[in-house]
Amino acid sequence: LTARLQGFGTTIFTEMTRLAIQFGAVNLGQGFPNFDGPDFIKEAAIAAIRAGANQYSRMSGLPELNRAIAAHQQRFYDLSYDPDSEVTVYSGATEAICATLQALCDTGDEVVLFEPFYDSYRASVTMAGAVPKVVTLHAPDFAYRPEELEAVITPKTRAILLNTPHNPTGKVFTRSELEHIASLCQRFDLIAITDEVYEHLVYEGSHVPLATLPGMRERTVLISSSGKTFSFTGWKVGHTCAPPALSAAIRCAHQFVTFCTATPFQHALAKAFVADDAFFTGLVAEYRARRDRLCHGLRELGFGVLAPAGAYFVMTDIRPLGYADDVEFCRMLPEQVGVAAIPPSSFYERPANGRHLVRWAFCKTDDVLDEGLRRLQKLP
Ligand code: PMP
Ligand code: GLN
Repeated sequence: LTARLQGFGTTIFTEMTRLAIQFGAVNLGQGFPNFDGPDFIKEAAIAAIRAGANQYSRMSGLPELNRAIAAHQQRFYDLSYDPDSEVTVYSGATEAICATLQALCDTGDEVVLFEPFYDSYRASVTMAGAVPKVVTLHAPDFAYRPEELEAVITPKTRAILLNTPHNPTGKVFTRSELEHIASLCQRFDLIAITDEVYEHLVYEGSHVPLATLPGMRERTVLISSSGKTFSFTGWKVGHTCAPPALSAAIRCAHQFVTFCTATPFQHALAKAFVADDAFFTGLVAEYRARRDRLCHGLRELGFGVLAPAGAYFVMTDIRPLGYADDVEFCRMLPEQVGVAAIPPSSFYERPANGRHLVRWAFCKTDDVLDEGLRRLQKLP
């Protein structure tokens, strides 16, 4: 293993899902739905395979999918992107993040991350030869302190990587926070990389893409993924929207990482992005009910519930139940209680900031949420 990757170990998702399988636990850890997305999308993928759409697609994405993504950005955010020169399709948001950092960061450049962060960020920044500079989202409300963000910006800062709605906290960045971040990007000539994979899962307030703020479209790489919105995380199809020069740079990396993404899934998702409004409003309503169900149950059990405004995870404080260490708690849970969760300290550069928290996923059907909650009554 190279020096660059020393210390990254095995991702916490792999570890916790392995324990969940080993002990037959209810998996409220790794964030994937235990249900499929809509039949019309599945049928479109099957039809594409039957119709012979089984060879490489265009490197930057199947033209119909790029057009559908551009139409989606226009429809929901009034953001206009040219499908051919400004929209690019990848094998998941994970690849989009990695390719973006490979393309835009030189050795020694600094990238600002907010902790807790999705675990691929720090690894992708490091693999690009860049250096993560971490600003804390402070529990329990996960606000950042403006002076702490300003303090990490140096002449070497190249980009700020922002995730809203946020995994693992469920925070939805407010317009005033976004305005502050936008002003810093402009003042210090930084690129904003925004991970918006949970854009359609917002329960309080609304999702504001940073690119919609004045002066930001031209310096923002907007990243999203169809895995979350359409409940097909295993299809691994993500995208970026960015001005032509940034898109061209990122494509330069993408063409050597995967070149292109599975063709039949792109055909199916071209139909998904233009789904009617009822699909999107129905999605939020279903997830809001799941969020409320899990939050209520965890509260009844005595956890300190930090109710999320977005995404499909809830963070809880384990101290009211007498626990102090998230990793110990989550390693004990599958075997002793039959439930799996995620210890968020692995999403922190300073793990002490997350030791008292545990993340639970609610992208699960009611029977699974209820069974998980029932088993948690046996907590030692
Ligand atoms: N960003 C965040 C914040 C995520 O939670 C995830 C999914 N776990 C991803 C990116 C990766 O998305 P994809 O599966 O499309 O690679
Ligand atoms: N995004 C999912 C989560 O946060 C997991 C993705 C993965 O396993 N890499 O749980």
